[in-house]
Amino acid sequence: MTKPASRPLPPDRIKAAMKAIWAWRADANKPVACPVCGAGGLVIVDRSARPHAEWYNLSCQVCGLEHVLHIPMSTPIGGSDI
Ligand SMILES: [Zn+2]
Repeated sequence: MTKPASRPLPPDRIKAAMKAIWAWRADANKPVACPVCGAGGLVIVDRSARPHAEWYNLSCQVCGLEHVLHIPMSTPIGGSDI
């Protein structure tokens, strides 16, 4: 099978991608739909390394999406437990 060329997330799909991440964080066992092509099975990898920002690697094998989404955490949720 030929893998489609990898492509970044279109700017107008960032909101959809963030929704996909929230859904994934709520239930990581549920298949998440790709924000670009809508196919299930979006792969999300949490690469957050800092307390005030989150990084998520999104990849879709169907349309070739390959993108790292940066979510700045301007409003801390809850207290720090570290
Ligand atoms: Zn896709």
